[in-house]
Amino acid sequence: MTSWGSSPDESTMPAARLVGSANAAVGMAAGVEILRQGGSALDAVEAATRLVEDNPDDHTVGYGGYPNLLGEVELDASIMDGTSRRCGAVGSLRGYRAAITVARAVMERLPHVLVVGDGAARLATEIGLVEEDLLTPAAAELWQKGLNAKTGTGGADEAGMLSWMANIATDPERAPGTVNVLGLDRAGNIASAVSTSGWAWKYPGRLGDTPVIGAGAYADSRFGAAACTGWGELAIRAGTARMIVAAVAMGATLLEAGRAALLDVGSLDTGGHPPTMSVVTLAADGTHLAFSNETGKRYVFWEDGMASFDDAAREHIA
Ligand code: ASP
Repeated sequence: MTSWGSSPDESTMPAARLVGSANAAVGMAAGVEILRQGGSALDAVEAATRLVEDNPDDHTVGYGGYPNLLGEVELDASIMDGTSRRCGAVGSLRGYRAAITVARAVMERLPHVLVVGDGAARLATEIGLVEEDLLTPAAAELWQKGLNAKTGTGGADEAGMLSWMANIATDPERAPGTVNVLGLDRAGNIASAVSTSGWAWKYPGRLGDTPVIGAGAYADSRFGAAACTGWGELAIRAGTARMIVAAVAMGATLLEAGRAALLDVGSLDTGGHPPTMSVVTLAADGTHLAFSNETGKRYVFWEDGMASFDDAAREHIA
């Protein structure tokens, strides 16, 4: 087994892999093509995630994402290179759909890991991304209806007290989703990419687990990677993604590591709300598994040699 202080063993380099949450399906073919051509895991996970961010029908990520209480779409994303363990993240990014590419720019162009708000938007401009309104009419309508149904008001500005509204409108069952993509290239490099518009109707400026390295995602080419969807505050409190990779480093199987992490999340005090959490995992030997404490959840995967990606049931851990 690779130990904490060592580099990957080149004699046992695995074939490429790409693993994602079910909503990554729209981006899988692009990521697979990069890995098939011998490209890097980092490029593959970014490319796959970009296509999910472009998808207006996915109201949990990028363009067309659900907005915060004020009707503003704020994006969170992070990317990690498991070989150098350099990483970059953005939070509360407004006006640019490609949050994952801005996160990569944080990693590659700045001496920082996490940049939020106006600074993240400024960096997006510097790398030539086009500013646009991310709130689509479909997402705006669903947002308004949901807000009315939850709060009995016509909108956030009628109520004034946003902190009061945040507790009513953003109940944990409404956490909408995130895209997770984990890749392993033929050189043995592992990378993670995660992107989300966060919790629908969240308090402005709220960051979830997605931009918090070690909570929403973590990658280490010696051992593996993990990424989360679900109630982000819980993944932050439990350090979920890092916990899984650390468990694998200590010798746990993915099944043991994922199970321990979900049981740990389930032990948090959530005030009676279901501790909604799902994770995808990928080990350095190319094995992969996904977990959820909700039933009926699936994930997508591609293994070197497969003509196309496939999907499979997640392990249910209750
Ligand atoms: N984890 C995301 C967040 O808390 C939302 C989700 O995946 O459902 O922002």
